[in-house]
Amino acid sequence: MTNIGRPAEGQNQWYPFMDRPTPSIVDGVMQNPPVIPVHDAAPLPSSARFVVVGAGIHGMSTAYHLAMELERTGKGTGSDVVLIDKAGPGAGATGLACGCIRNLYMTGPLHAILRASVEVWESDPINFGFQQVGYVSIGEENQAEDYVRLNESQIASGYPSDLYTGADAHRFLKGLWPDFKTQNCDVVLHEHRSGYAGTHMVMWGLDQKCRQFGVQRVYGVAVTGYDLDASGSVAAVETTAGRIQCEQVVWVPERGRRSTGSGWAARPVWAAPTPAATPRRAWPCGPTGACWRARCSCRRASTIAPPTGATAPCCTSS
Ligand SMILES: Cc1cc2nc3c(=O)[nH]c(=O)nc-3n(C[C@H](O)[C@H](O)[C@H](O)COP(=O)(O)OP(=O)(O)OC[C@H]3O[C@@H](n4cnc5c(N)ncnc54)[C@H](O)[C@@H]3O)c2cc1C
Repeated sequence: MTNIGRPAEGQNQWYPFMDRPTPSIVDGVMQNPPVIPVHDAAPLPSSARFVVVGAGIHGMSTAYHLAMELERTGKGTGSDVVLIDKAGPGAGATGLACGCIRNLYMTGPLHAILRASVEVWESDPINFGFQQVGYVSIGEENQAEDYVRLNESQIASGYPSDLYTGADAHRFLKGLWPDFKTQNCDVVLHEHRSGYAGTHMVMWGLDQKCRQFGVQRVYGVAVTGYDLDASGSVAAVETTAGRIQCEQVVWVPERGRRSTGSGWAARPVWAAPTPAATPRRAWPCGPTGACWRARCSCRRASTIAPPTGATAPCCTSS
């Protein structure tokens, strides 16, 4: 049983990995039974090839895909990957997200990235809690040009969407919702592959996939710093549970702000080179949809090629 604590004083936000209040029995019936599985965390090892920091959607997915890739290529095993979170899966922005999975972004290159992300959601919709119900966006006349651009870019990226304008837009909306008021609904974009997902469900699903691949999931341990070697690369990660030597680090925690709003992509981050002392995310690179890069020394080549269409995540500076 993992004991990662309870909500802070004055808060009432319970996460799946937290110990819940002990169920009480009233007239022989258990009240408030725990319905969410508890994550079985591993102890912090003293060394690892890969350390992924942060068990939000990005860290989890990165650890899972890295483990899969190591196994597939024979370059290692899932147990080469250590995933560390100061609390547990979904404790950050991921646990709070609305769960919208859509491709409605004005920046063209994101459309291919989000398509790659949705492919991951589609790979196991049940365990990721993915409801592929589509996504409808409605605009006024002065947005029509933007919608046309969006629609063309999405289609060119292999992410099918339909565009309706004027009377067609009204007909489409009424067809979906007969009592919908279509006044000022001048342009409508319908993304077919989008939808929504349950935040806790996907955290659980990814956690279990990491587990199946042997990823060492260390929860309740915070990263407090790095040890750099003479070349400025990270040689070890300092944590509240001790030091872990490693070859490569992927740093993914949110830094007190939203990423780009498209963070709900489950595609992994291929930021394999070891970050220097101040790792940070930025934009636009990497196949996560969150568009970020670990600030890194780029001294070591990535052992894993980025997926088709993704740019190298580490070779630009912000
Ligand atoms: C209210 C809200 C609604 C949103 N709705 C949507 C939406 O509908 N669709 C969408 O695409 N995006 C949405 N987003 C954005 C999306 O949730 C985020 O972009 C995404 O979840 C970020 O995931 P992450 O893994 O990068 O970070 P997080 O989920 O924040 O994970 C970071 C993890 O790092 C851990 N951590 C932090 N510091 C340390 C440390 N020192 N040592 C160890 N661990 C550490 C934290 O405990 C945390 O678990 C929403 C965001 C919010 C806040």
